[in-house]
Amino acid sequence: MSDIVIVIFGSPDSRSAQGLAGAAAPLGGASRTVVVEGEYQPEPVLDALVDACRGASVVLLANDTYSQEVAPRLAHRLGGACVGDGVDVRMVDGRLRVTRQVYGGKANAVIELRRSPAVVWLRARSFAVAPITGSFAVSAAQDDRANTRIVERKVAAENDAKLEDAQVIVSGGRGIGGPEGFRDELEPLAKLLGAQMAASRAACDAGWVPPTWQVGQTGKKVAPELYLAVAITGASQHMAGISEAKNIVAINIDPDAPIFKHCRFGIVEDYRKVVPLLRRKLEELRT
Ligand code: FAD
Repeated sequence: MSDIVIVIFGSPDSRSAQGLAGAAAPLGGASRTVVVEGEYQPEPVLDALVDACRGASVVLLANDTYSQEVAPRLAHRLGGACVGDGVDVRMVDGRLRVTRQVYGGKANAVIELRRSPAVVWLRARSFAVAPITGSFAVSAAQDDRANTRIVERKVAAENDAKLEDAQVIVSGGRGIGGPEGFRDELEPLAKLLGAQMAASRAACDAGWVPPTWQVGQTGKKVAPELYLAVAITGASQHMAGISEAKNIVAINIDPDAPIFKHCRFGIVEDYRKVVPLLRRKLEELRT
């Protein structure tokens, strides 16, 4: 019987946390759920997790930035193995096999972890939800001797809630043309839809929107019910971040844009014409 531990940064009620419980269910279910509380500082958190995960055969984490930072270090400290970005996990002959997407989502690699514990961070929203049971909290005290220290605290903007947990995402690309397009066209649309905002790397690199909005191979991996891709080409590196989206709707002026090969609905038109129409329709439906 495997001793499976779930590690959660944030609320155990989140979709990600329940996705981890769902991933653990076919493996026999989690025996422990560790909820990390307090302010994140890598070294003290790592020390607390090493204690909390000792003896585990599998440790499952989500695809948030803290989990991604901690997972390989935790595996090293516990003498185990680590794989990230899993979309499926199964036990074969007592060893964990993790499926992850490669080549920008065009193929899958199945990786067997041959050391224990198998420490894996997963695209948690790719898994069906299951209830969290038997959770306990660890909180790591800030440590002045740690290699890093917090020098500034900023209150997160409204949109900085977890993109990974968003049900609806409005995402803009370079074709938006500048920050005002995001601010004046896409943000009001996102408000009406109750959506989170996101962007392609090109839009983030241009400095139009914060880098935390980036979706893709080197950005966030998201799995919303609806992903509205506005003026985004659909490069393979972008698609790698949205392969788990249930419905992709694209607006692009170029009928040959690759995004149209991946979307459920596509609108070939200038977004500056389409987005105001969508907003008007949504406002009408509201009233
Ligand atoms: P563009 O390719 O410039 O496309 C703009 C689109 O807007 C075009 O399709 C155009 O037809 C359309 N358009 C223009 N004007 C309008 C208008 N008025 N109305 C409607 N449509 C319009 N990219 C990511 O997004 N995420 C990643 O994580 C990522 N990681 C990468 C990692 C590596 C190693 C590399 C090499 C690249 C990575 N990229 C990533 C970059 C990726 O290859 C693309 O360059 C990028 O996704 C392009 O962004 P874009 O579609 O917004 O811009």
